[in-house]
Amino acid sequence: MSDTSFEFTASTEFNDKDDDLLQNRSIKILLVILISIAMPLTLWALAQWTHTNSLNDLRRKLDSRMQLYSSNIVSELEKYEYLPVILARDPILKSLFEGEMLDFRIDRANRHLSAIEQIAEVSAVYVMTTQGNTVAASNWDEENSFVGKNFRFRPYFKNAMQGHTGHYFALGTTSNIPGYYLSYPIGDGDKIDGVVVVKVSVARLEEAWARAKEEVIVTDRNGVVIISGRDEWRFRTLEKLSPDLRQSLINSRQYSDAQLVPIETGRERIIDDNTKRIAIRHPLTNGKDASKWEDIYMRSRPVLGTDWTVHYIFREATLRNDVINTLIIAAFAWLIAILSFLYMLQRRNMINHRLEYQERHRQTLENAAIELEHRVERRTKALSEANKRLEEEIQERHKAEDDLHRAQDELVQAGKLAALGQMAAGITHEMNQPLTAIRSYADNASVLLKRDRLDDVDSNLVQISQLCARLGKISGQLKVFSRKTPSQKEPISLVKVMADTLTLLESSSKFENTQIINNIKDPSISVLGEAIRLEQVLLNILRNALDALADKAGACIWISAQAQGTRMAIHIRDNGPGFEDSDLERIFDPFFTTKEVGKGLGLGLSISSRIIQDFGGVLKAHNHPDGGAVFTIELLQAAHG
Ligand code: ADP
Repeated sequence: MSDTSFEFTASTEFNDKDDDLLQNRSIKILLVILISIAMPLTLWALAQWTHTNSLNDLRRKLDSRMQLYSSNIVSELEKYEYLPVILARDPILKSLFEGEMLDFRIDRANRHLSAIEQIAEVSAVYVMTTQGNTVAASNWDEENSFVGKNFRFRPYFKNAMQGHTGHYFALGTTSNIPGYYLSYPIGDGDKIDGVVVVKVSVARLEEAWARAKEEVIVTDRNGVVIISGRDEWRFRTLEKLSPDLRQSLINSRQYSDAQLVPIETGRERIIDDNTKRIAIRHPLTNGKDASKWEDIYMRSRPVLGTDWTVHYIFREATLRNDVINTLIIAAFAWLIAILSFLYMLQRRNMINHRLEYQERHRQTLENAAIELEHRVERRTKALSEANKRLEEEIQERHKAEDDLHRAQDELVQAGKLAALGQMAAGITHEMNQPLTAIRSYADNASVLLKRDRLDDVDSNLVQISQLCARLGKISGQLKVFSRKTPSQKEPISLVKVMADTLTLLESSSKFENTQIINNIKDPSISVLGEAIRLEQVLLNILRNALDALADKAGACIWISAQAQGTRMAIHIRDNGPGFEDSDLERIFDPFFTTKEVGKGLGLGLSISSRIIQDFGGVLKAHNHPDGGAVFTIELLQAAHG
């Protein structure tokens, strides 16, 4: 039964394990599929998200940055706004137009303008006549001096001639240096004598921007790059100009000889109103590789108070760093997630194995417990059966014991009857002889009485009386057998009882020829019994010994006592003839005697034995190896009673 169940369990376990393996394998396949789809997807999405985010971030940051650039330009230019206005009122410059244009006045004006140029830190300061001829200039002594040059074609001249401030950005036709031109008319009221012009260089701004390593450009309303930290941008156009506009600009010489070549652009994507992504191919932007296209982002905003626009250029690489960083972090996160998942899988497997092991262990224990239970059950059953058999045996024993008791009782009864028969025979034998004698004495007395022989009659009556006394004595001795209740036992001093017995014996004539060695001297020896009756027993044994030792030379009796556990053994040994082997079995029988008729009744030892039994002891006899009889009286010691 149990074997089958084991097999069943084992096969179930195997199936479970198989299922587990399959499950594990499918989980792993699923995981690989999931990772190979989800990882690139999430990474791609994350890259997009980071890109958009960092672009948004950058745009926000750029707004304030560009605001800074914008205000930088405005403040740089505005600080010279009033310089031409003030110079228009300068007496030295005004004096140029008072009367004839005298050389010394021109010279004075030249030096004055030169000083102003240095103090104001501007590119150039010069004065023009109403015809546009430059009469005095701060760079009067330089190779590319403006003196003598005519700039009437410049819009700032035209503005000033109309009576208000002129603003203009241009590339100097003489100096070829870009600058911002501010002009104002010199004169009184509506009369204009000349025009004072301040050329402000933007080189300082450009240097600062170049140092900042940021790519910032400023375009004018035509889309021509006028300010840039990098030379390669300058005077290129962001978009292709219409041929007419381009031609008119070239003619205006605003940008000197610059050909206003547009920057080569490719696809364009609008990110928002102010930002776009453009592919550009600029001969110098990409350094050595001129043919390489590059995607750039350009964010633009107008420079307030001007018709210029500031553009901030940044590259995909700026954003790419953020994306790469995020991707690295994401890849790490993925790696950690995969490793964690693998660890969890491993751990789950381990736990499963442990549980499996525990389950197997539990199963084994359970089987062992069941087996144990079965064994206990079997053993209990066997024990119950054995117990039942034992009970039956006990019952049988009880029955056998009862039978034995019954048999014993029957035997005792038979023994009693036999003893009674023996006793009756003995009594009959003992009594018959005196009764026969009494009868013959009585018959004889009757004859003698008839013959009147009174003395003889009297003698016969004395004989009869003596014989009756003898019969009385016999019946008296038999009384002891009729005693039913056991005697009252008490502690008796053995020394005292022995001494009293020997005193009684001293009257015996036989005692004189016999040496009695009494070794009972310890007064503490005390036995349980009745002193008078124990004396009777001792007296009987000693008298028998004296009888046996009669006429024996060197007759001796030894008396001793020896403790044997709870008992005290009293030995009385003589050096007489001892017992015949056949007699030894019978000496305690009533009426057994080897003595001559009239000398012994054969009741002494049987009475003595009965008395000692009454005391709870035993009376035994045997022959001594050195000859002679030994009687042993075993009695309970008083101390142990
Ligand atoms: P009785 O003395 O009247 O014969 P007992 O019962 O006292 O009756 O003794 C029985 C017999 O035991 C004696 O007749 C004698 O044969 C034997 N007997 C007793 N004591 C001794 C002894 N000390 N030595 C030898 N025989 C003994």
